[in-house]
Amino acid sequence: MNEHDPPVPVTVIGLGAMGKALAAAFLAAGHPTTVWNRSAGKADSLVADGATRAATITEAVTASPLVVVCLLDYPVLHEILDPVGDALAGRALVNLTNGTPDQARETATWATERGADYLDGGIMAVPPMIGQPEAFVLYSGSRPVFDQYEQALNRLGIAKYVGAAAGLASLYDLALLSAMYGQFAGASHALALVGTEKADLADFASSLLGPWLTAATVALPLLVQQNGTSTQAAAESDSPPDMQTVAIANIVTASNAQNVDRALLSHLLIPLRDLIGPPAHGRGLADMVDLIKKPVE
Ligand code: NDP
Repeated sequence: MNEHDPPVPVTVIGLGAMGKALAAAFLAAGHPTTVWNRSAGKADSLVADGATRAATITEAVTASPLVVVCLLDYPVLHEILDPVGDALAGRALVNLTNGTPDQARETATWATERGADYLDGGIMAVPPMIGQPEAFVLYSGSRPVFDQYEQALNRLGIAKYVGAAAGLASLYDLALLSAMYGQFAGASHALALVGTEKADLADFASSLLGPWLTAATVALPLLVQQNGTSTQAAAESDSPPDMQTVAIANIVTASNAQNVDRALLSHLLIPLRDLIGPPAHGRGLADMVDLIKKPVE
């Protein structure tokens, strides 16, 4: 496909908050768009904007070479698509339903057995961001299929291909969500601490917490091992683990004193505490990643 080709027809199955946003982005970019949803009424506004409502799931699947699915979960996907799987032959199935790498791999095999090309995806955006430059969507699976439909997929947000193994997009998606929820947890703890002193939480969040979290991202390279060893950068940094562990102990002590639950923070910091003491000499924050990994059983 190149930029002069007419927009490829696309089917969107699943018109929840996210599926509707996906279909609207395809429509806005001029793609002939067919839509299907269990609760048919959710298609009304899209149909008013030019989408075609498929009366049946078979009609939906066979309407387009590119079939995008965005449902609650994988069991629902199979409940809907298993009965019409053979109709997918020769089409590209792009599954943007959130799931696990195992579910992605199983569904890739399922699709391949039915003669469909398969891409698994992870949407790193909320519905209002779809179609905006700050949205991005991860894809894994068939590289030729990604290349063929990249232009269409870019309508949803920047399309990022992360590898041929079907489970990779899901793995990266869940990893990024884990980082986000970890950040939310830390931010909630911060708000709880400050909230013990009748502070203006809205002002604290906007004027201090937000800028601080943004600034803290400069430390990310310290978490990454270089050439399989702990980064010298971490060991030589101005913020060595021993110093950080003192600060962390103070957070835990202050949490107790302010009557704020310290369990979350203490748990997160167990790996960091393993970095202190003489055996940890020369080790850095990057070692924390290895300490978090479970040993192979
Ligand atoms: P919604 O809850 O809004 O929509 C769920 C969709 O699944 C609807 O189309 C619903 O149909 C359908 N569905 C649920 N159960 C069944 C069933 N038993 N049979 C048939 N259809 C069913 O969720 P979202 O649209 O927000 O999310 C969809 C996917 O997008 C999820 O995997 C989510 O993780 C992912 N996502 C969502 C984001 C968000 O912010 N919303 C952000 C990033 C990813 P019906 O309308 O008939 O109920």
